[in-house]
Amino acid sequence: MSNPQRGSVEFRAIRKNYGGFTAIPNLNLTIEPGQLVTLLGPSGCGKTTTLRMLAGLETPSAGSILIGGQDVTRLPANRRDVTMVFQSYALFPHMSVIENIAYGLESGGMGRSEAKAAADKGLDLVGLGGLGKRLPSELSGGQQQRVAVARALVLEPQVLLLDEPLSNLDARLRRRVRTEIRELQQRLGFTAVYVTHDQDEALAVSDRIIVMNQGEIAQDGSPNALYEAPASEFIADFIGEANVVSGEIWSNDGNRAHLRIGGMETTLPVQGNLAGPVRVALRPNAFTLGAASGLAGRVLSAAYLGDHAEYEIDTELGRLFVVDRSDRALLPSGSQITLGLSGQGVAVVGRS
Ligand code: ATP
Repeated sequence: MSNPQRGSVEFRAIRKNYGGFTAIPNLNLTIEPGQLVTLLGPSGCGKTTTLRMLAGLETPSAGSILIGGQDVTRLPANRRDVTMVFQSYALFPHMSVIENIAYGLESGGMGRSEAKAAADKGLDLVGLGGLGKRLPSELSGGQQQRVAVARALVLEPQVLLLDEPLSNLDARLRRRVRTEIRELQQRLGFTAVYVTHDQDEALAVSDRIIVMNQGEIAQDGSPNALYEAPASEFIADFIGEANVVSGEIWSNDGNRAHLRIGGMETTLPVQGNLAGPVRVALRPNAFTLGAASGLAGRVLSAAYLGDHAEYEIDTELGRLFVVDRSDRALLPSGSQITLGLSGQGVAVVGRS
């Protein structure tokens, strides 16, 4: 009988101490089957520890972990029905690509010819059909990582764990392989937990991003929600570029608030009756240049980037990073300019 919870993950009140140091104080997290969920956060925030506890490579100090509805807290790694793709690929250098992929199946008890057929299929899946006889050293880095993904996928785990899988690839390849991993995950519908410290990568691949800070969940939501409605200065700063400045809500009817920021004004949807001095995150696209009234500024630096221009503008709110996608000619350094708000890219991130 198929398990309706197959592929689900649950962390219940998980704590992890390393000696006297508490890396994770109390983690509660549920992951739905078929989602690609990214653990994102600065170095040392606990994302690798979280992934390794799910894999069975670290033991929680307290709490329980469920995979597919089954409590696996005390199960060893090899009995957990998860497989991990490491940043180092960890392919056996003396074995061919096909042997590498078939290895896990054979050591799990599958006969040689059946394992080889499954490995061939796995190789096709990642677009490397025909390269099975090569040694790993005869493949590019991106191809090796795809072999590592194929090797994990042929085991048909409930959950695929990816630990910074792209960090050994150069920027262009990283973009391509991340698209491939996402495409594969959506096509096959498996659950994936993906660890990265690269926010662009997280925005690009995830159904849901869990941003961690000092062992706790700082915010949990879709890429869009995190970018459009960061819950704190930390998130606004961490996800995308943001100018975090002081402003004031001078009226609020519980649905829409009127916000004044250094002579610029806008309205935005709010929940609750927040009023008075607030901290506001302004995305680089939040501004209009050359407004009739607003915030006076002086261009400190200007860069032409084809489809947009980037400016650093000195204002009474501090230096602002501004992106202009209009067809206005590039403003030279030293120009005086009045900034207004475009109505997008504004989020209140806390009280002042
Ligand atoms: P990075 O992006 O640098 O890999 P991370 O978010 O994955 O960081 P973890 O590796 O989970 O962070 O570490 C979380 C905290 O636990 C850090 O403060 C780290 O120093 C500590 N830590 C991790 N492993 C151990 C260990 N084996 N012994 C002691 N402390 C550890």
